[in-house]
Amino acid sequence: MSPAEAAALTCSNCGVVNTKLGKTNCSAGDAAGPPRPGSCPTSTQGEVIGSALEELRGDSEDARLARVAARVEGLAYRQTEEGPQARWTRVEDTIAFARLMGYRKIGIATCLGLLEETARLVAVLEAQGFETHSVCCKAGSTDKTEVGVEDGAKIRPGGFEAACNPIAQAGICNALGTDLNIIMGLCVGHDTLFNKHSDAPVTTLVVKDRVTGHNPAAPLYGGHYYRRLKKPMRVEAEEA
Ligand code: SF4
Repeated sequence: MSPAEAAALTCSNCGVVNTKLGKTNCSAGDAAGPPRPGSCPTSTQGEVIGSALEELRGDSEDARLARVAARVEGLAYRQTEEGPQARWTRVEDTIAFARLMGYRKIGIATCLGLLEETARLVAVLEAQGFETHSVCCKAGSTDKTEVGVEDGAKIRPGGFEAACNPIAQAGICNALGTDLNIIMGLCVGHDTLFNKHSDAPVTTLVVKDRVTGHNPAAPLYGGHYYRRLKKPMRVEAEEA
């Protein structure tokens, strides 16, 4: 069966097993784990998984990225009598990852609304010996209407409103030859474009969520209070 013909993949259903047993078939291995569900990609996507493993076992940049990421994952815990305990924040994960990869020059693609947090990140990264370059999403100061956005679609119609330019943010980082780029709160979609146009590998430190203080998982825990998310969401622009 080709991957495209496989039944819908539902790793999400293993969340119940993982919560109950603290493991899944894939995390524990066949012998020590619970049974694989019928749609498990370990069973149905063997060819894709096999070729990806070949890539990861090689000497490519991707293989190195994956190995260093796994080392950082291990270092992020300390061993205690009660078992592994998480010890590093994501800021520390990012520092360790950059250092183990041998990166020196860090680009930061920041949202205007995260400039203060970005200044704090710059101070941390520079204290750790990295060279930093931060570029705001509004660099170029171009009105949204100049890139095809209707005035009525602005947050405050009728006045100047700068367009985000993630392609420029990536292009500037590319021209500077950054080794690693960090996203600080770019909008959904603008982050997509930045990822697409960045030459250097990208990691995200802050995921923008305007309502939850940049904690996008919050509504997923909200249950009763976010019942509206289970009903079709009205997006006015679809009706225009
Ligand atoms: S890979 Fe298989 S065992 Fe792992 S979460 Fe997905 S369905 Fe479950």
